Amino acid sequence: VDDPPAEVLDPAAFAALLPVRADESDKRSSGAPLIVAGSTQFPGAAVLCAWGAARAGAGYVTVAAPEGAAAALRAHLVEQVVVTYDERDPAAAVQTILDLTNRCSAIAIGPGLGLSDDSAAIVNGVVGGTTLPVVADASALYHLAKRLDAYRDAPLVITPHAGEFARISGKGTVAPDERLARVREFVDRTGIVTLLKGRTTLIASRDATHLNPTGTNALATAGTGDVLTGAIATLLAQGLAPVDAARAGAYWHGRAGSVALAHRHRGVVARDVAEALGEASLVAPQ
Ligand code: AMP
Ligand code: MG
Repeated sequence: VDDPPAEVLDPAAFAALLPVRADESDKRSSGAPLIVAGSTQFPGAAVLCAWGAARAGAGYVTVAAPEGAAAALRAHLVEQVVVTYDERDPAAAVQTILDLTNRCSAIAIGPGLGLSDDSAAIVNGVVGGTTLPVVADASALYHLAKRLDAYRDAPLVITPHAGEFARISGKGTVAPDERLARVREFVDRTGIVTLLKGRTTLIASRDATHLNPTGTNALATAGTGDVLTGAIATLLAQGLAPVDAARAGAYWHGRAGSVALAHRHRGVVARDVAEALGEASLVAPQ
C-alpha cells in the first residue's frame, strides 16, 4: 500500500495550537520544563535548549547538568535555575533529576549530554522513571535506541536529524526521496512520535504524517536543533499532546529561522533563532 500523503500545517492551524497564557497564570503554571542537557565538553547545547524553552514562553526553566558544565551554564543563564549532578554516579544523578520532576511539567533530554555509559544510564533512568511528557534529542536518541520497546506507550517525542535517524532506526542512511516512507515505517514499528529534521521536517505519529512547510537554510548552523528541542519542551509543559508539540514546534522554529534571517541577513546563529521565536509567533494570540 502507498503511504498516505503528509498533511501540511498552515498558519491558522499553527495559531490554534499555540497555547495562550491565562490571566491568572503563575510562573510554574505557565510551563515548567526541565532540561537535562550539557556536559563539560558541550555546555552550550544546554544553554541553547534552555533559551529555546524560555523564549517559547515557559515561566520556569530548570536545567539539570553535570557539575563540569555548571560554571559555563551559570555564566550564560540568568533567569533559569541550574541544578547539578555528579555524572559519575548515575543512580544518584537519576534520583536528583527525578526529584526535580515533581515541580516540572515536561522534560527535554539529550542535547550535549554525550555518549558515555554513564549518560546512557542517566537517560534511560530518567525517561523510564518519569510520567511527564519527554522530548528526547541528540545523545539521548542513541541511549534510548537500545530499548525503544520500553517507550512504546510513553508520552515521548524524538527529534532526530537524518544521521541520528539512520542510526536509531537500524536501517541505515535515508535517501531524500525515502524520508516519508522511512519515518512511517519507524513509527509504525515503535509507536513513538518522531520528528525527522531536515530541509523539510516530517512529524509522524501512529495516526498521521505531517510535513512542516516553514524553515530556511539559515537554520543549517550549529545549535538550532537544541533550540527546537527546548521550544518543544515548553509546548509539552504547557499541555500540548506530543504530536501537536512536535508539529507546532517545527512550524514555529522554521518561522523563527526566517525572522532571524530577515533581521541578520547573514550569519544567523542558534541564539538568534531562539530570540526570534516571539516575533515568529505573531500569527497567534499572545
Ligand atoms: P540539528 O541538526 O539537530 O542542529 O538541527 C538542525 C535544525 O535546522 C533542524 O530543525 C533542521 O530542520 C534545520 N535545518 C538544517 N538545515 C536546513 C536547511 N537546509 N533548510 C531548512 N532547515 C534546515
Ligand atoms: Mg542536534
